Amino acid sequence: MSPRWMNPNCSRPAAGRRVATIGLLALQGAFDAHGRALRAIGAETVEVRLPDTLNGVDGLVIPGGESTTLLLLLKEYGFDRAIRDFVDSGRPVLATCMGVILLARSVTGPEQESLGLLNVGVARNAYGRQVESFESEGLVDGRPFPMVFIRAPRITEVGDDVEVIGSCNDEPVMVRQGNILGATFHPELSGDCRVHEMLVTMAAADKGTM
Ligand code: GLN
Repeated sequence: MSPRWMNPNCSRPAAGRRVATIGLLALQGAFDAHGRALRAIGAETVEVRLPDTLNGVDGLVIPGGESTTLLLLLKEYGFDRAIRDFVDSGRPVLATCMGVILLARSVTGPEQESLGLLNVGVARNAYGRQVESFESEGLVDGRPFPMVFIRAPRITEVGDDVEVIGSCNDEPVMVRQGNILGATFHPELSGDCRVHEMLVTMAAADKGTM
């Protein structure tokens, strides 16, 4: 599916608008499409392959991919600690699909270690084998949003400190907890930039450039 970046929900950056620099965790997975979405709305992007690179970014995307593989890579490169520190610094994180699995408090299907930074429980690959990937229309902030699910997890528990900001078929699919946004779908593939706008707005506000 080719993103439709002419979507009216993608605002072009105003001339002279100072925007944020967003890091794309680029160890594995679908970081490239996030980069295109972010650049389409005027953000700068940096591929993050080593923890030190996080020092120079105002926000971070943890993309979709394969969480078991990524977990091993995160530990090998010291990202488990670095991502914790990044979240503690108050800078915003957008986690999609695998990213939600990595940040969740608990993971089932099968059970797996996770960073426990987002107070949700998730079940991996929970939409069943025969329907591993599908498109649907859900709601983000009460407005229709095109959603692409690729071997997506289901959010099975939502902690008190977590706000559900996106749903599909009456199930939670996007949450916010402080500076963390988590979506089980792939906003980078639908051509609708509003989720990326949220991240950039949070990053720029944090940086004091809005
Ligand atoms: N199924 C993957 C996992 O469990 C996540 C899929 C995705 O990120 N698109 O790790």
